[in-house]
Amino acid sequence: MIPVAYARGDGIGPEIMEATLAILKASKAPLELHEIEVGEKVYLKGFSAGIENKSWDTLLACKAFLKAPITTPQGGGFRSLNVTIRTALGLYANVRPCVAYPPFVDTLHPTMNVVIIRENEEDLYTGIEYGLGPNSYYALKVITQEGCERIIRYAFEYAIQNERKKVTCFTKDNILKLSDGLFHKIFDEVAKEYPTIQHEHWIVDIGAAKLADTPEAFDVIVMPNLYGDILSDVAAQIAGSVGLAGSANIGINGAMFEAIHGSAPRRAGQNLANPSGLILSAVMMLNHLGLTSQAEQIHNAWLVTLEDGIHTYDIFKEGVSREKVGTKEFAQNVIKRLGKVPSKLKAVHYKSASKITPLAPSKKASQELAGCDLFIISDNQPEVLAETLQKAPIPLTAIFNRGASVWPENKQAALSDTYRARFINKTPISWEEVQAVQKYCTKLGLQITGLFALWKKEGKPAYNLSPGEQ
Ligand code: NAD
Repeated sequence: MIPVAYARGDGIGPEIMEATLAILKASKAPLELHEIEVGEKVYLKGFSAGIENKSWDTLLACKAFLKAPITTPQGGGFRSLNVTIRTALGLYANVRPCVAYPPFVDTLHPTMNVVIIRENEEDLYTGIEYGLGPNSYYALKVITQEGCERIIRYAFEYAIQNERKKVTCFTKDNILKLSDGLFHKIFDEVAKEYPTIQHEHWIVDIGAAKLADTPEAFDVIVMPNLYGDILSDVAAQIAGSVGLAGSANIGINGAMFEAIHGSAPRRAGQNLANPSGLILSAVMMLNHLGLTSQAEQIHNAWLVTLEDGIHTYDIFKEGVSREKVGTKEFAQNVIKRLGKVPSKLKAVHYKSASKITPLAPSKKASQELAGCDLFIISDNQPEVLAETLQKAPIPLTAIFNRGASVWPENKQAALSDTYRARFINKTPISWEEVQAVQKYCTKLGLQITGLFALWKKEGKPAYNLSPGEQ
């Protein structure tokens, strides 16, 4: 028996979980189920992360977590349960298949069958933000080589194991040359190890437009966290209904499976909700646990139910559907069809997944300190500020305002209150020399709100260069 944790959640959560558990039980999947409580009640008991300490032991002892949606109480002071669990279990890959089921579910894209694989731990979701000026905030986008390799390799392995033909990468590396640039570079490198899978890269803005207009052009798409968050919702919505999509969060210390929709409180307690999103999440969980025959059996029975016209209210359509059913009855209909395969929709066939090859530890790049960027609050014009800063112990090479150069060339029409002064030495320097620059500026009476070290990696600048900088 495989130990699995589950939580009934809030709103429609308990009903769709009951329906899903009934199907899992009927499939005879060898699962040992352990219930934990998460969500609104736990938040209101005073646990700001929505989960009690004792539940962590269960989560960590289990091989997977099947989670129904929860309601996040309104107001401040509550942390996202998903973000907490993702970080604690190292859930680096968010996998969301977005599939159209024509003619049984209305869609403008009848041949759509896209899987979005989103990096789940890094990027702006690390939530590292700073108020570096009286009226300005900066957020750090974190992209690491290990994070990129893990998610990109996962995407290619997913493609192989699920008989997909192409992996597409979305980034914005025309602007974010270092962070998104790293994601793109590693994508190209990892792709070489999978010659049977086609690969391509799109700039995320035009890629997103193409995805919304012609999703048939894509197969598997891998992307950094923020783009993936936004575009996986777009993809699920245009495939048909939010009530149909499941998702997997795969990690180092565990895996979590949940429907993509929320707790839909207005539909709660009425036996109305479509349990399909959670049922398909449970199918992904069974596959992850290696229980492929039960996964295949449930998924095919679900497809047969759909094509037999047994539909919940959200996808019910006169002339297409045969019977409008509630949550419980939908599950009973799936159970009745266990062992059947669809005749109109494409049947699924799952085979045991091979484990993803562990990564060789990446070579640590040599780095040397080249200078620093100081964030300075000043009402002075850039050329006045530059005059004093030029006498600092390390040469002043540029001053920026909101990312654009304002000295030696001024390319910024509207100035904010925060300048970023760049000091770079031709030869490597020490921390003491950086501190000397900081001391010098403080002595001038300038208000310093932040400092970033400027490093060179393998002799190349690991910071953005402004035009003319070397
Ligand atoms: P929602 O997804 O809960 O509901 C939006 C609408 O979609 C519903 O009113 C309903 O008409 C429809 N819908 C959603 N799921 C359905 C289903 N299974 N069957 C039929 N119709 C369905 O989004 P929301 O109203 O913005 O959020 C409600 C609560 O859920 C909020 O507290 C939010 O924070 C939370 N939420 C939780 C999760 C999660 O636990 N993973 C995800 C998203 C939102």
